[in-house]
Amino acid sequence: MKVPFFRLKFGPAEKKAVRDVIASGWLTTGPRVREFERRISQFTGAKYAAAVSSGTAGLHLSLKGVGIGPGDEVITTPMTMAATVEAILYCGAKPVLADIDPVSLNIDPGAVEKKITSKTKAVVAVDMAGVPCEYHALKEIAGKYGISLIEDAAHALGGEYRKKRIGTIADATVFSFYPTKNITTGEGGIVTTNSGRLAGKIRRLSLHGMDSSGWQRYKGGSWRYDITDLGFKYNMAELPAALGLAQLDRFEKFRGKREHLAKRYAKGLSGLTEYLEIPLEYDDRKPARHLYIVRLNRKNWRIDRDRVIMELEKRGVGCGVHFIPIYRFKYYKERLDYKPKDFPNTEASFKRIISLPFYVDLSFKEVDYVCTVLHNIAKKFSR
Ligand SMILES: *Cc1c(COP(=O)(O)O)cnc(C)c1O
Repeated sequence: MKVPFFRLKFGPAEKKAVRDVIASGWLTTGPRVREFERRISQFTGAKYAAAVSSGTAGLHLSLKGVGIGPGDEVITTPMTMAATVEAILYCGAKPVLADIDPVSLNIDPGAVEKKITSKTKAVVAVDMAGVPCEYHALKEIAGKYGISLIEDAAHALGGEYRKKRIGTIADATVFSFYPTKNITTGEGGIVTTNSGRLAGKIRRLSLHGMDSSGWQRYKGGSWRYDITDLGFKYNMAELPAALGLAQLDRFEKFRGKREHLAKRYAKGLSGLTEYLEIPLEYDDRKPARHLYIVRLNRKNWRIDRDRVIMELEKRGVGCGVHFIPIYRFKYYKERLDYKPKDFPNTEASFKRIISLPFYVDLSFKEVDYVCTVLHNIAKKFSR
């Protein structure tokens, strides 16, 4: 049996949505983008949503929107995708990395507070695998030092923190709709916020700094527009928005399937507690269940994490590692001057983590197969 790490299947609704856009003759930002923004703000409970071309673009514009520029420091986690750190560098600011909590894999608020200086202007927190961060503590720190809190919620659409949907906790929350994320627009992203001023600024910056879009002018507005900022070309187009609307309609179904898959894995792996830890369940937050990350108890294995992945792949099971810490990449190693020993929790976690196949199209039979393979490997390489 072969179980790929990821597989995507669209339904008839997505196909119809795409055909409808083509028939409409309007491809760039238009009525479907505005409708998608409306639906995401309704879904998250945020007052405003500004759609953009990717999660990375959303992070960049959120940081610009709260005024991050050269000379500023922005604290974030090394356990993330390059996008989070890139967005800080795009603003000319300095990314300052703070170690993670080894249980949640999210940024440790205590480590954040230790890194604050007079130059610190923002914190970017990442909800790893869809598990919301310790927002209680992070918000307290942001308030105490008067800095902005940006949430990289690329994994966390539909998650909840203390009964609140992800999307309204931070000053700006950024979602990604990359194909592997919980819903996809092909490529795309959105920023939610309760600040009308910030939403307006992000929307303007996403389209050359213009104060009206092509669609507004086409609908009968004037041909005149003004440019108020140095903007970017980060607007979302109609095809992605149409896909996103169709996917959002199926969100509850997707969520249900992800919950069932997580339960199936938990049951199938329950006999392996000596060898690996499965994702923790929390009382105060509901994860969006984006990735299924297991952690090896390395003292009970004769082989390391890389070799466990090799053995899984030999038996047809595709795996990932989320994430290779930022300070391990050549560019960031040279540029940021950080060493693995500065981040003991991130480094130790990195050597234990494996992301198993986890997506809506995954069958229970496939989950059972992955669990059987893990049982066999654990027995074979047990110490
Ligand atoms: C996917 C991802 C992003 C970037 O999203 P794109 O839409 O691919 O630009 C940012 N942060 C994290 C943690 C991600 O997983």
